[in-house]
Amino acid sequence: NNVSPFLDHGARTKAHSLAILQLSRDNLQPVYLQPPTGGQDGYAEGAVVNTRYGSFPHSTMLNVPWGSQIRASKVDTGSRGRKRKRDSADNPTPGNEATGASEKEVEDSAPAANEDDTVALKQAVADTSGFIHVLPPTPEVWTQSLPHRTQVVYTPDYSYILHRIRARPGSHIIEAGAGSGSFTHASVRAVYNGYPAGGERRGKVFSFEFHEQRYHKMKQELADHGLDGIVQLSHRDVYHGGFLVDGKSPEAESVFLDLPAPWEALPLLSRRKPQSPNDPASENDQAEWVSPLNPRKSAYICTFSPCIEQVTKTVSAMRRLGWVDIDMVEIANRKLHTSRERVGLNLNFDRGVNNSPRDVEEALTRLAEIETRFREHTGKPRGEEEEDEDMDSAGEDAAAAKKSRVAAPNGVIVPAEQQASSGTAPWMEGRLITRGEPEIKTHTSYLVFAILPREWTAEDEAAAAARYPCGK
Ligand code: SAM
Repeated sequence: NNVSPFLDHGARTKAHSLAILQLSRDNLQPVYLQPPTGGQDGYAEGAVVNTRYGSFPHSTMLNVPWGSQIRASKVDTGSRGRKRKRDSADNPTPGNEATGASEKEVEDSAPAANEDDTVALKQAVADTSGFIHVLPPTPEVWTQSLPHRTQVVYTPDYSYILHRIRARPGSHIIEAGAGSGSFTHASVRAVYNGYPAGGERRGKVFSFEFHEQRYHKMKQELADHGLDGIVQLSHRDVYHGGFLVDGKSPEAESVFLDLPAPWEALPLLSRRKPQSPNDPASENDQAEWVSPLNPRKSAYICTFSPCIEQVTKTVSAMRRLGWVDIDMVEIANRKLHTSRERVGLNLNFDRGVNNSPRDVEEALTRLAEIETRFREHTGKPRGEEEEDEDMDSAGEDAAAAKKSRVAAPNGVIVPAEQQASSGTAPWMEGRLITRGEPEIKTHTSYLVFAILPREWTAEDEAAAAARYPCGK
């Protein structure tokens, strides 16, 4: 019962587990944490992640709560130097990793040659300044850090898609093509329902990829992530080979197609054998038709296409094949960062529009004046305000509500009690500034959604009539 770290990562990091190192806001690096190994000369050596923020021995990242901040180690005991000489490996190996001694190992087990060395060592530890965060693997951080083999589906799109195709614990999802596995990781979490007892169906993702190299990479990745029991990956051209697995139906009720020509795959997602002479031949042509869809549920589909021409072809095929409730959505996700402009830059000193101080002296005079006015109003020196001016908008809303602030017509927010008592001092609070993200990381595509209703047989009708007898 080895649960994937994507589904249950526990409270702390551990050796051999996948961790995502956050080097900066948008720079995430996946790493398998290695235990320290006993090296020569009595030094315990292990893997080190070298970044421009400093060196991070794996040993300093082990057995810490997920989300911990890890300080860089700049310590070099000479062990690392000797090792480099032995290996002639001054540069980090691929994956940005080299071997060396950790800060803790140095202090614990690497006796310095003399007193001076010890002092230098302590100084080096004290000089440590860079830091990173060690994050647990989740579909969201994996999407940001995964090795790109193709364009991928990003979080704003897949969260909406999974909601619309009704992915839930126990669902069976068909996904094609698998590509870099970004959508796959998100869909696994959506359908995961453990190892249900009592005949309940286990959630599963049936994934298809026809590019051989990508298929093998993805297969390995799923095994490494402990997801191969929940994702069944097939090497297949779905336009011709369809969606059965070992000749059996996945009985899916949710479908996601990220393919260049979804309309070519749609006939093979029917409930009945496709009749049109234009439909591509499939392995199912020879045998009795088996639908890949769950016969007891309506099927919910999403196709993901960058061009409107692809959308019209897909919609047209959907109509012909009996899909209903067809609609198209484009996600235009945008993060807005709201902050308060610093008071010093926002003072109205009756100087009109161009309010910049003329020189340093004037700037200092103004700052002193701000400080005085601030004390008069709050009884506190500036900087002891309760909230951080850079807090995110949710935090700011909460803080604003807590302090019962009200917005003045110019968008400046002032504590209500101050407004009432002292005729307001909007310059003290600064203006609210909202900035959009310079770069938006989503792959803009059109999402087409549709539903294929379940079939209703004479037996279904008889069963329904027995359950809900009408007029008896
Ligand atoms: N959704 C993926 C993700 O989030 O990482 C990215 C999918 S990528 C844009 C499209 C993939 O579809 C490619 O890897 C390509 O090899 C695969 N593909 C294209 N035509 C296919 C077909 N007929 N059958 C199976 N896979 C196909």
